[in-house]
Amino acid sequence: MLTRNLLDNFGRRVDYLRISVTDRCDFRCVYCMAEKMNFLPRPSVLGLDEIYLLAERFLALGVRKIRLTGGEPLIRPGILGLCERVASLPGLDELCITTNGSRLARLASPLFATGLKRLNISLDSLRPDRFRQLTRTGDLNQVLAGLDAALAAGFQQIKLNCVVMKGRNDDEILDLVAFAIRHKVDISFIEEMPLGRITEHRRVESFYSSAEVRTRIAEHYTLIESTETTNGPSRYWRLAEAPSIRVGFISPHSENFCAACNRVRITAEGKLLLCLGNEDSIDLKKVLECAQGDVLKLDQAILGAMKMKPRKHDFQVSDDVQIVRFMSMSGG
Ligand code: SAM
Ligand code: SF4
Repeated sequence: MLTRNLLDNFGRRVDYLRISVTDRCDFRCVYCMAEKMNFLPRPSVLGLDEIYLLAERFLALGVRKIRLTGGEPLIRPGILGLCERVASLPGLDELCITTNGSRLARLASPLFATGLKRLNISLDSLRPDRFRQLTRTGDLNQVLAGLDAALAAGFQQIKLNCVVMKGRNDDEILDLVAFAIRHKVDISFIEEMPLGRITEHRRVESFYSSAEVRTRIAEHYTLIESTETTNGPSRYWRLAEAPSIRVGFISPHSENFCAACNRVRITAEGKLLLCLGNEDSIDLKKVLECAQGDVLKLDQAILGAMKMKPRKHDFQVSDDVQIVRFMSMSGG
């Protein structure tokens, strides 16, 4: 009988799985992708049944929360059916999706009907021209219509994600907080991570720390530190002036979150990544192919992989490429 706890060598329990359902995207955000990307050939990408089986085995081994991400998960054909199947798996406490919002206007309602309850929507600017610059192809109005559709569909747990870049959108921090308050949704500010080779800007120049974001917010609001968690990397604050929303900070550089890390990721091609900032992985697509339906072999491979989870990542604020894979590959 195999243990039902995914424990690593440092006593951390892994109960959160993020799955990249595609490496493709309709945006090309400047911090996430190069302008010209080579995407995986389709046969290399995990099939929907493979994703479902992996979700099922991780849940059987003690995972409680699954996030579907990408690339852009809502451009993957069959995503609604996958959400529906995964949402009804035993052992699952929470199914979430992270999306750029471009297709939400049409998909929010059917997505809600699948049983998915939590949505993260990326939003780095409220200015259409700047939004287009940062995403290279994105249309702000489509994303805002997507947010409205998600609220109308009944989603009650929505969080905006904003990557803050010095000189690019740091002057919108207060506008974004006010927007979140008006729409009664949470918001997290993310420090840019050195994932993938980009030439559009120098990451060392665009870095903007979570502490600087809080200083900006504190010019207008009283921030109250909170112990709440969504079982992810965000640390939360409340605002005395708008206590119903949470303001989160994802600070891989300045407030390294490794000690409490409970996450692993499956890339679009089925690699199990034990750490976002580290290349160690095992090839679960290959394991699936060799196991030929023998779930014990799959479970053993997953349990064994936990011992490879490193103590911490070593991200530095620098322009050197520290991890060659893009966030869109990793299941960001
Ligand atoms: N396409 C979806 C989206 O944008 O929400 C899901 C995938 S995206 C890779 C997931 C999150 O990672 C987004 O909130 C995005 O802003 C963030 N992200 C991408 N590249 C990043 C980087 N280099 N540093 C920090 N956050 C990044
Ligand atoms: Fe696409 Fe999301 Fe990456 Fe932007 S952050 S390029 S929307 S995967």
